[in-house]
Amino acid sequence: MADGLEIIVSETTQKSANAIKRPYKLVEIIKETPNVKTLRFKSEFGEKMDFKPGQFVQIGYSSDGSKIDAQRPYSIGSAPCSDFLDFYIEMIGGKLTSVLDKANAGDIYNISVPNGKNFEYAPSQNKKSLFIAAATGIAPFISMLRYIEKNRIEEDVIVLYSVRTKADIIRASELEEFNKKGIAKIIITLTRPAESPDWTGETERIDVAKIEKYVPDVKERVAYLCGSNQFNSTMTELLKSCGVPADKDHIKHDVWGGH
Ligand SMILES: Cc1cc2nc3c(=O)[nH]c(=O)nc-3n(C[C@H](O)[C@H](O)[C@H](O)COP(=O)(O)OP(=O)(O)OC[C@H]3O[C@@H](n4cnc5c(N)ncnc54)[C@H](O)[C@@H]3O)c2cc1C
Repeated sequence: MADGLEIIVSETTQKSANAIKRPYKLVEIIKETPNVKTLRFKSEFGEKMDFKPGQFVQIGYSSDGSKIDAQRPYSIGSAPCSDFLDFYIEMIGGKLTSVLDKANAGDIYNISVPNGKNFEYAPSQNKKSLFIAAATGIAPFISMLRYIEKNRIEEDVIVLYSVRTKADIIRASELEEFNKKGIAKIIITLTRPAESPDWTGETERIDVAKIEKYVPDVKERVAYLCGSNQFNSTMTELLKSCGVPADKDHIKHDVWGGH
């Protein structure tokens, strides 16, 4: 394929080609927090991937350029059809993250077409959404907020974001900008506030009191939850006790595993 040729991977392509992986070059690595790196990729063929915000791709690594040694799903943090694909990855020393942690700009990885229909963002009927995230679970919401801003979607969005310390907030200044610009009302809560003595915001885990305080109209919103299994089930129980029906029209989940 000619250099610079722009291909948009469409919805129909997605359905028929779930297994397809394409080469992407790692062009930038940013130390986002003590444990999380932003990895920015650019298609080797100049493709700009189209997807629905909230979707994920498989990132695959091949040591010899032929077979894939390891691949894992990662939520896309950039907006659809951007020049780059951004990911926010916690380096936990596992099979793929130990490779990604040592990755250098210029390295090539294989990236699949987008997946994950259940967590796609779509403007809600009431134009009111609630995003609830823990740690790197903010990744798909960054994509959604970028998309909402870029497309000037009129949606009243509230984000409840739980992290351990102030230093663990991913894309802190971008989140602040979203707040300032009125793209979303973002409430961050620190679960280990003692480690951030200058923090003046919310502390402790997300609970019913925080939901009632910041989201009094929670029953009118579509809730999107992204975090561990444990986090998502706790949040679902909280929402249920606030009167939100636990069906897929009211609560959407992106579950990343058992940690
Ligand atoms: C749809 C989807 C989207 C995802 N998006 C992201 C994302 O945007 N950013 C991101 O960082 N991860 C994301 N993940 C998790 C990711 O796919 C991998 O599971 C993670 O990076 C670990 O891969 P690994 O090969 O390094 O670890 P492995 O060798 O596969 O696992 C090592 C062990 O660590 C456990 N583990 C996995 N994650 C964590 C963690 N965070 N803390 C502690 N233990 C853990 C695993 O359960 C396993 O027992 C997503 C997962 C899913 C299903």
